[in-house]
Amino acid sequence: MVSGSMYKLGTAVSPIRAYYELGWSRAEELGRENIFDFSLGAPAVPMPDAYRRELIRLLEEEDQVKLHTYAPHPGVPETKKAITDDLNSRFGCSFDPGDIIMTAGAAPAISAVLSAIKTSPSDEIALLAPYFSEYSAIIEGLGLKKLEIKTLEPDFHLDLDAIERALGPDTAALLLNSPNNPSGAVYPAEDLKRLAEILKNKSEEFGRTIFLISDEPYRELMLEDEEFPFPANFYDDTVICYSYSKSLSIAGERMGYVLIPGANGERKKLFPAVMGAARANGVSNAPVLFQKALIKCAGLSSDTELYRKNRDVLYDALTSMGYVCTKPKATFYMMVKTLEDDRAFCERAASMGLIFAPCSGFGFPGYVRVALCVPEDTAKRSVGAFRRLMDSYRQEP
Ligand code: PLP
Repeated sequence: MVSGSMYKLGTAVSPIRAYYELGWSRAEELGRENIFDFSLGAPAVPMPDAYRRELIRLLEEEDQVKLHTYAPHPGVPETKKAITDDLNSRFGCSFDPGDIIMTAGAAPAISAVLSAIKTSPSDEIALLAPYFSEYSAIIEGLGLKKLEIKTLEPDFHLDLDAIERALGPDTAALLLNSPNNPSGAVYPAEDLKRLAEILKNKSEEFGRTIFLISDEPYRELMLEDEEFPFPANFYDDTVICYSYSKSLSIAGERMGYVLIPGANGERKKLFPAVMGAARANGVSNAPVLFQKALIKCAGLSSDTELYRKNRDVLYDALTSMGYVCTKPKATFYMMVKTLEDDRAFCERAASMGLIFAPCSGFGFPGYVRVALCVPEDTAKRSVGAFRRLMDSYRQEP
């Protein structure tokens, strides 16, 4: 027998991949050079040179057996110290290396935290739409429920009144993603402050700690010269899930962590519960080589200049043609308002060589996500195809 729910998940086409295939199927007709693929959120710049050099040094100089062995389950202690030193100096917090569990990326980190806080099948996780499409698979796969709350157009900031109304006695956590995939929004400090008040009041009202799970893989991808308002500085019961996939351009290497600040209240039990969940799900042990290379490089991140240039080229060109778009302050994603149902829009765009993901898969229909992590030349040359797409709608009666 096979699990029906897992079969369903495994055979469902990801909203990000669905139009990828369709667009590339036109390559023969349009020419490969006329396919502009903005569908995948994979970094388009190399890892920082110092990190690459450190990896090579470790491979050449360190004990090769120890470098490729199992890590201690919560992670390499020196790596965790380097991470907390870096976070404490940048965000003025006082994390302890013992607050961290290294994981093989952010997705396993989120899944371990959600498993650790699930106490009943009626537990729900609040999601702020638009949200990363894979959250649905993780939440539903664990037998939890989604509580979707929309953010506000046009900048996709928090709808705090709606959040206050929606949270209920079954809410186990609110999963926050700032900077946001797909909108590129960075939630301002004053909104995080009010959100913290709401979570605190609702936790008291319902007699259960509502955790704030802060998924922050794009924290280092700020495109403006602005400070990142760090969610853990606003609410004590925050659990950070982090990934190096985007910040160090090592999505294939699988590196991230869970950070549970301080061991007070419910959080005292949460740390061992996350360790237990990682064990139960078989997702502990981030690769030792990549953990060790972080000891000297914890504060580094890849160059974001390409993402900024692509954002500016496409934002300026698209808005001048009449498209409505977000201008992301961070990440490498932009949302563009569609001129019909978002899936139909993606289909028409794919027929012209433009490939992107419909935001109905991100809980916010009526937009597409344009991933800006493409070569500069692709972004520039795509402008003509965007114009043809707009013209095709204007020519309609
Ligand atoms: N969270 C968000 C918002 C993401 O965009 C992604 C990947 O695209 C992840 C989590 C998963 O990251 P990882 O590659 O570390 O599993």
